[in-house]
Amino acid sequence: MAKTHYKLIILGGGPAGLTAGLYAARARMDHLFIEKGAEGGQILLTDWVDNYPGFPEGISGFDLAEKMSAHAKRFDLNSMFGNVISMDLSEPVKRLELEDGGSLTCNALIICTGARPRPLGIPGEKELTGKGVSYCATCDAPFYRNMHVAVIGGGNTAVQEAAHLTKFADKVTLIHRRDELRATKILQENAFDNPKINFIWNSNATKIQGTDGVEELHLRNNDGEESILKVDGVFVLIGVLPNNEMLPLESLKADDGGFIPTDLETRTAVAGVYAAGDIRSKEVRQIINAAGEGATAVLAAENYLINLS
Ligand code: NAP
Repeated sequence: MAKTHYKLIILGGGPAGLTAGLYAARARMDHLFIEKGAEGGQILLTDWVDNYPGFPEGISGFDLAEKMSAHAKRFDLNSMFGNVISMDLSEPVKRLELEDGGSLTCNALIICTGARPRPLGIPGEKELTGKGVSYCATCDAPFYRNMHVAVIGGGNTAVQEAAHLTKFADKVTLIHRRDELRATKILQENAFDNPKINFIWNSNATKIQGTDGVEELHLRNNDGEESILKVDGVFVLIGVLPNNEMLPLESLKADDGGFIPTDLETRTAVAGVYAAGDIRSKEVRQIINAAGEGATAVLAAENYLINLS
């Protein structure tokens, strides 16, 4: 019979989970790493990573994900593909239910389920997703060769991916709801210097229109004036929502946004349960701190497990 109990389960395979996996495997802990899709999480949505130490020339998101995965596997990461749909954290032995009907138990759990792009929630967005509305410039930019695309958002993702889009599109119009970007200064400078990027400030998208693909983006500025932008694609890059559907949010005392608060050692409100990476309630969501939190979580879990036995 296949093993179903582990001392430690790591749930989610982005930078936090892969680093936790590396540390757990290297410490020879009795562990299981569970990922439901491709390892790498949101780095797979990033064209180029320019601020991860050790890669002075930068590295593509895809390559960094592959390296993190290969690194953990070098120490015999014990991994499985599976979709955890619910869990019971009320007892010292935690129980995870899988979509295929199976269940797994563990003494310590590290939640690294990450986050996903936030939708705008405007008419036309859902209907045209995959037909011109996209949440991933890295994935879809090549479809827009010589075209005009809109990017919505003013954070690091929007500004960085707008620059990536200019490798393909003729024109990129970035629409931001304020008159100042939130993105890191160096990304802002690059965007302002890029002749293919123009900006529409103080404006919100109200509707996306088109029959077989995106044709128009309807905007309203902060003075209430309406306008229509003719575009071939709309990239919605306005932040993230937590991947928390499988989590008992009340026991974990999730914050108002559904992210999981922890202490500095990544301990959640439930003994033996840790959260690392973008699912954590925090201000800074960078690959480097996700990885750091994954390492911290394993060390904290290891201490917890030692004190249990
Ligand atoms: P973010 O930093 O939360 O920025 C979201 C942007 O979207 C903000 O400019 C916000 O406007 C705007 N926005 C939010 N809701 C909106 C709405 N309903 N309509 C219109 N605009 C809306 O999100 P992010 O850029 O996706 O980044 C997520 C995290 O990943 C951040 O911690 C970021 O630093 C990190 N990241 C880092 C890098 C890097 O270091 N190179 C790259 C990508 C992402 P306001 O400014 O008005 O709030």
